[in-house]
Amino acid sequence: MRLQNTLTGALEELVPVTPGRIGLYVCGVTPYDSAHVGHAMSLMVYDVLVRYLRWRGNPAGGHEVTFVSNYTDVDDKLIDRAAQQERDPLELANANIEQWEQEQQALGLTLPDVRPRVTQEIDNIIGMIEEIVTNGIAYVTAGGDVYYRVREKADYGKLSHRNIDDLRSGTRFEPGETKEFALDFALWKAQKPGEPAWESPWGKGRPGWHIECSAMARRYLGDRFDIHGGGVDLIFPHHENEIAQAEAATHAPGHAFANIWMHNGMVQRDGEKMSKSLGNVVNVAEALERWSPDAIRMYVLSSKYRQPNNLTDEAMAAAVSGIERLTAALRPGDGGKPSSIDARATRERFIEAMEDDLGTPQALAALFDLARAINRGRDADEDIEVAQATLRLLAGVLGLTLVERAADEASARLDPVPFAKLASRLNVVCSGKDVASTIDALLERRVAARTEKDWALADTIRTELDALGVTLEDGAGGTRWSVRR
Ligand SMILES: [Zn+2]
Repeated sequence: MRLQNTLTGALEELVPVTPGRIGLYVCGVTPYDSAHVGHAMSLMVYDVLVRYLRWRGNPAGGHEVTFVSNYTDVDDKLIDRAAQQERDPLELANANIEQWEQEQQALGLTLPDVRPRVTQEIDNIIGMIEEIVTNGIAYVTAGGDVYYRVREKADYGKLSHRNIDDLRSGTRFEPGETKEFALDFALWKAQKPGEPAWESPWGKGRPGWHIECSAMARRYLGDRFDIHGGGVDLIFPHHENEIAQAEAATHAPGHAFANIWMHNGMVQRDGEKMSKSLGNVVNVAEALERWSPDAIRMYVLSSKYRQPNNLTDEAMAAAVSGIERLTAALRPGDGGKPSSIDARATRERFIEAMEDDLGTPQALAALFDLARAINRGRDADEDIEVAQATLRLLAGVLGLTLVERAADEASARLDPVPFAKLASRLNVVCSGKDVASTIDALLERRVAARTEKDWALADTIRTELDALGVTLEDGAGGTRWSVRR
């Protein structure tokens, strides 16, 4: 597989540091507020990368992938927000993290394998800062702050492809900062009144923002690992500083840290940056009220991950109809004539697209062509089962479930309350408040229960739904549900 590497500016072959294994680190959220759909869409890019690598990657089968993504659960914004709400910052962070993880699951996102939190990694972070100080690349101020000495790092700017002088012109001293040089950045911040703080060799304080990712990536993925991802807005200064810290800590010139730096474009709403101040933020709950997880994913995968994504109602309508086309192709046929569809060719085209820098638009084009061929085959009374299995499999690699929602209308006349109660009793998170999405969520939980061999739970879901007038029918294309008249 080849990926565009921001560090070298080139399309590079992904050669695992350890054969058969991939370590992936993606910068996570600062949980001072609910996450919005832009965060989810960014994460969807890496979700698809992980799914693809786990499915395929080397001739012996998929890679073993370790996916790490952090939570910055101590930060200025978090402290301010908690003060406004008269809450404990950690309690606010925990509540937002819990909500975000439920939302990720509702969106069909695979939760990262390791989700470290700053407040639980303080010793690890302090250890790395000590190494940098010992190596003479950081200094301690009289006030107890620790700064990284950027001028000690000859190749500082190598990720953003700018030199120190260019970078310095855009940086200012903040009030009260006592650093030597404008680009120097804080590794440790001395405690201010009322702020959460931890003991350190430099007095009480808390870590600067950038150091956590270097320390966590190293702890969970090793000194050198395969892919580091994040939004393009993080290239400078955050990722530049992550590299600088990791290389200064190990004090090994030319030390790689992450081999490939992968950056996703930012999500815009109707051509503008999504931000609280513009009032155009779409939060996850709102998005799921309007669109299915499949439609949101289709929208994300329809454009190249490095391009900015412009979320418009028209683009979402196109995504919804794309999902309908793929889902319709899975409707059973009963023809017995030999199939004329070359499903293997589709699979190869799909792989070729994905291997070329995660070319999801081309991979989807292969699936749409296959869907058309299936529909023609059905009309011609051909046996379309193998082709449908390929479509289902490859869609699944992209994380698309293609669950038929034809029963939505019939379900609209049912009372949503008992369904919501059932979901809540079984701890199932629903993407929307309507009966259809509750049933979908319960079915999803049932699929998971069967995978986990929790037959009792799978049965409970079936019998309880049956008692509420919903019949399940298990088939090759997954489970369909219908409402009894
Ligand atoms: Zn980071």
